[in-house]
Amino acid sequence: MILSDGCRFVIDRLSGAGYCAYAVGGCVRDYLMQAQAKDYDVATNALPDEILSIFSDCRSITNGIKHGTVTVIADGEQIEVTTFRKDGLYTDCRRPESVAFGVELADDLGRRDFTVNAMAYNEAEGIVDPFGGRRDISDKVIRCVGEPDKRFNEDALRIMRALRFASVCGFSVEEKTAESIHRNRELLKKIAAERIFPELTAALCGCGAVCVLDKFRDVFAVIIPAIRPCFDYYLSGDNHGQTLWEHMLRAIKAVEPREELRLAALLHDIAKPRLISDGNPESGGSAHAGESAELAEHILRALKAPRRIIDRVKILINYHDYPCDDGRSVKRLMRDIGGENALLVLSQIRRADIEAQNGLDKQKRLERLKKCENMCREFMSSKACVSIGSLDISGDDLISVGFARGKTIGAALSYLLDAVIDGGVENKKDMLLAYAKTRLPFFTAAP
Ligand code: ATP
Ligand code: MG
Repeated sequence: MILSDGCRFVIDRLSGAGYCAYAVGGCVRDYLMQAQAKDYDVATNALPDEILSIFSDCRSITNGIKHGTVTVIADGEQIEVTTFRKDGLYTDCRRPESVAFGVELADDLGRRDFTVNAMAYNEAEGIVDPFGGRRDISDKVIRCVGEPDKRFNEDALRIMRALRFASVCGFSVEEKTAESIHRNRELLKKIAAERIFPELTAALCGCGAVCVLDKFRDVFAVIIPAIRPCFDYYLSGDNHGQTLWEHMLRAIKAVEPREELRLAALLHDIAKPRLISDGNPESGGSAHAGESAELAEHILRALKAPRRIIDRVKILINYHDYPCDDGRSVKRLMRDIGGENALLVLSQIRRADIEAQNGLDKQKRLERLKKCENMCREFMSSKACVSIGSLDISGDDLISVGFARGKTIGAALSYLLDAVIDGGVENKKDMLLAYAKTRLPFFTAAP
């Protein structure tokens, strides 16, 4: 196994001082999967104070020292160096009441969550693998270290971690571990949303996302209860003939693996069952996009998603059904949500929505959409006029031809922008001024 320079430096220095030290966890797993390790963690029998003095000439971060972790900055790289530890009793499904140092590597590996994460490596001993992690990697299996019920009761976040690793690695979950996940899913309610959300988005972005979501939909329904009514909600009609859940999964598969896109694909029709149960015959109509955007915001806030993600997902859902079939409608979309969002709606969410439908004319609809997407790209690169700021006229220009200061100016500029988008006037100052003057009475007429 090839270690990063920083990791090798840390291990060599600890060994030179007479301690044992190993690269552990994710980096060993990633190496065996021929994937690029995100970072390198080191486990050692040196105690935290000893680690600090061995690396006294290096910069270090000590805010994890209570749990035995010192982050050493070696070669500009952050290496988390953690003393071998054994967890004490767990009573709150979140964290141990105490941790004990002064234990062996085997104990330290035994407290880890899954066999694939419970391996260690150093040059002297090679890969240390007491729980069959290597075999599970080659079988593509996520399996708890030890008794699954016990492990999920100790720390329920492990339920989400199992699903995240299964999705990201494209693995299946070993039978006993899977049964235990289903059985213990309600424990997730004890875990802070801030810890669940990153696991959820990582699971949504993994190569195995659709399979994991479907197999463990009862678990995802614990953290997003609004998906439960979608499981059996039947979408009839030529374009569907499937459950809403199937449609959601197909949409997820059809968008790129980026968190806001996957969340928008999952939640784009989330309000449909609610609309119909409210007796609203419009459930397939235009109302469902706005309603779903509202419900998505509610869900994401409860999950403590960052504001920027909530805002983006809301826009994507709100406009996922926007009727777009010519240059004008593309420009209007760009006017409403900006070019970048418009391109995401057209190239990702709206496309995924159609991809996830059936119907004889599906191919035609996709082709029409592709044309709109291309137009949007073209309008963006040619800096087409789709905002008040890009009009060749300003509020002062309007005042100079007789418009009153105040709200009228904003309304008049919006009016001119719409006229430019609709082709009623060219975006040239003199033409805009002449056009505005003819409309002046309309803007100054008493209400
Ligand atoms: P990633 O590549 O996403 O960083 P990772 O395996 O390194 O994956 P981390 O969350 O960085 O995951 O944790 C490092 C190691 O610590 C894991 O490989 C695992 O051995 C152990 N670990 C982390 N969280 C838990 C947990 N909740 N319960 C038990 N062991 C855990
Ligand atoms: Mg890691």
